[in-house]
Amino acid sequence: MASLCATVLYESRHDALERARENSRNVALVAERDIERNFELYALSLQAVVDGIGRPDVMALPAPLRSQLLFDHAITAEYLGSILVLDEAGNVVMNSATATPLKANFADRDYFTVQRENPYAGLYVSAPYRSRLRNGAPSIALSRRLSHPDGSFAGIVMIAINLEYFHQLFAGLSLGPHGAISLMAQDGTMIMRQPYDPAVVGRNIRNASTFRHFLSAKEGSFSDTSSIDGVRRLYFFRNFPRQPLIIMVAEAEPDIYAAWRRRALTIGTLMGTFAVGFVALSFMLATQLRHRMRAESELQLLARTDSLTGLNNRRTLGEILEQEWRRARRARSVFSLLFVDIDRFKAYNDQYGHQAGDDALAAVARCIGENIRRPADTAARYGGEEFIVVLPDTLLEGACAIAEKIRHAISELAIEHAGSEYGRVTASIGSASWSPDHDSDVTQVIKAADQALYDAKARGRNRVAMCGA
Ligand code: GH3
Ligand code: MG
Ligand code: MG
Repeated sequence: MASLCATVLYESRHDALERARENSRNVALVAERDIERNFELYALSLQAVVDGIGRPDVMALPAPLRSQLLFDHAITAEYLGSILVLDEAGNVVMNSATATPLKANFADRDYFTVQRENPYAGLYVSAPYRSRLRNGAPSIALSRRLSHPDGSFAGIVMIAINLEYFHQLFAGLSLGPHGAISLMAQDGTMIMRQPYDPAVVGRNIRNASTFRHFLSAKEGSFSDTSSIDGVRRLYFFRNFPRQPLIIMVAEAEPDIYAAWRRRALTIGTLMGTFAVGFVALSFMLATQLRHRMRAESELQLLARTDSLTGLNNRRTLGEILEQEWRRARRARSVFSLLFVDIDRFKAYNDQYGHQAGDDALAAVARCIGENIRRPADTAARYGGEEFIVVLPDTLLEGACAIAEKIRHAISELAIEHAGSEYGRVTASIGSASWSPDHDSDVTQVIKAADQALYDAKARGRNRVAMCGA
């Protein structure tokens, strides 16, 4: 689930980036089309002036009429300066706004010098400058060359565009709190940048790492850290198809991923809580299960053992006898059984009390358990002060030897028993061995061992008697 969650988050992060790229491209296209359309209008107006000046009949007209013919008054837009005609020395000779032009010389401006030096410059887009006619307003100019009939330089026609035009255009585009949009010339001169900083306009960013990308393709996108404000952004750039301009739209990565980050935090927190809850629940369940299993095995043990002596109880004895009997029949081996009975135990109880009787019973049981060694040998409490020891695969002699060992050990416990002829707690043991066949069953061995026990009692107690078959 965690990896599924991580995959979904990774993909939605990728989607956020793709959406931002798409958005940047759309914003760049909208701005580019607006600028291109306006520039084309201005270029046409300048061309009309160039064409008009080339016609002697137009130039022969009276000044007001000539001005009306030459200058397209439809383009007196808010951010435009008037159309100026300069002579080959850079002096203003015609002004679309006034009948008598102001005395001014612009021979130092690039839009003039470029046209003077290069007859094939065409429509020239100047670097930003501060206008001397319009109170230092930051501007760029579009210029066209005027030539004499012999092709020599005759001056220029130019129109100035206030950079406020770009400022207003960019301010209306939504790019997030840290987004940026720039218009620059292909030589790296910054024309306008949003967020607006007058110090950046006119600066050449030719050497910035981002600018190198702009020249590498017609359009594209990449991520980089801005050389101007140090914010990491996703850049989208486009070179204008008809003007030497580049538009760049950049959305800040913190803005792009802001919504994604919020979502990731919510999902991550939920997922983390869920995982912790899941682990805790699993842990609790496991603990419960362990407790339960332990209780069950304890119960099982309790159900199988005699609580006073800790030996197998009669029910378990029944199972063991069945199982060992069948095994002995299969293996055709000899199967032995000891029947142990404490001597004069009623008298013991009567004399020493029931509690002491219980203690003696437990001690005898322990003694029996300690004296059977082979893993298959088992002892059980048959009832009262009687015990049965099952000795699979054991011959009568071996069984008698174990019986004798047990009898001796019980006697050696030296538990005082004044009512016994031996003065201590003793036991009589009947031993029986049987080779199981199809006609016999385990009760016959028990009977035989019981019979042997009876003999042992009859012969004076504290002894082992045997009964073979
Ligand atoms: P014998 O030598 O012939 O075996 O005589 P006995 O007294 O041992 O035999 P009897 O069967 O007459 O008496 C068995 C006695 O064992 C009866 C009872 O007082 C005692 N007994 C049986 N079960 C328990 C027990 O769980 N706890 C105690 N304290 N005594 C028990
Ligand atoms: Mg008895
Ligand atoms: Mg007895």
